[in-house]
Amino acid sequence: NKAKRKPVIAGNWKMNMTPSKAEEAVKETVELTKGMDGCDIVLCVPFVDIRVAVRATKDTQVKIGAQNVHFEKNGAFTGEISADMLCECGVEYVIIGHSERRQYFGEIDATVNLRTKAALKAGLKVILCVGEILAERQANITAEIISMQTKLDLAGVEADELKNLIIAYEPVWAIGTGLTATPEQADKACGIIRNVICGLYGKEAAEAIIIQYGGSMNDANAAELLAKENVDGGLIGGASLVPAKFTEIVKAAQ
Ligand code: PGA
Repeated sequence: NKAKRKPVIAGNWKMNMTPSKAEEAVKETVELTKGMDGCDIVLCVPFVDIRVAVRATKDTQVKIGAQNVHFEKNGAFTGEISADMLCECGVEYVIIGHSERRQYFGEIDATVNLRTKAALKAGLKVILCVGEILAERQANITAEIISMQTKLDLAGVEADELKNLIIAYEPVWAIGTGLTATPEQADKACGIIRNVICGLYGKEAAEAIIIQYGGSMNDANAAELLAKENVDGGLIGGASLVPAKFTEIVKAAQ
């Protein structure tokens, strides 16, 4: 079944790169990954970099994503960005529910769910992040936590919207720490999420959905993670800031 799914390698730049630096890095990534069409390639950039990034990737294999989106269509929400705004700017993907949003910005499953529904409705492709914190893994409740997050975050999402949904399994203890999950841990967790999708939407949906691993994935460990049955790509933070490293990960997904 893995062979039927096209992997997605997505960079998450987080709060890095001013527009001028972004333009350079995007252009370099486009150059280096030319012809690598064995996976979809996405760079999720800060809002202010979207304009230059979209321009620099026009008619190329690299797609642009945002790192968050508000769930209301428009109105008095100072500082927020709507899904329609992203679409009109040429954004195709959006990360929702990243652990840093959950940890530092009060994001909860209820708001992740609202964002996910709003983004899908607007036609964006959603990269929905779930994952346990270290204490939860140590307490042996990883399966419960990621199952619960997946169910709460997808409540009310229709089966026909799933084609635009990617789930990123990101164990919080592995993000930015250099402590990558083992390929076995990643495979097991992604398999648990796939099972939840099976329960919610059926076998066909479960076999089709793209589930990424994220958390200290880099050019050295990508190949063995991506080789696992249930791992269909990666969400890459630190290593995505260096086009040559990101390209090695893309290469590993060919
Ligand atoms: P990292 O970040 O690759 O720097 O660990 C991954 C992420 O937060 O998506």
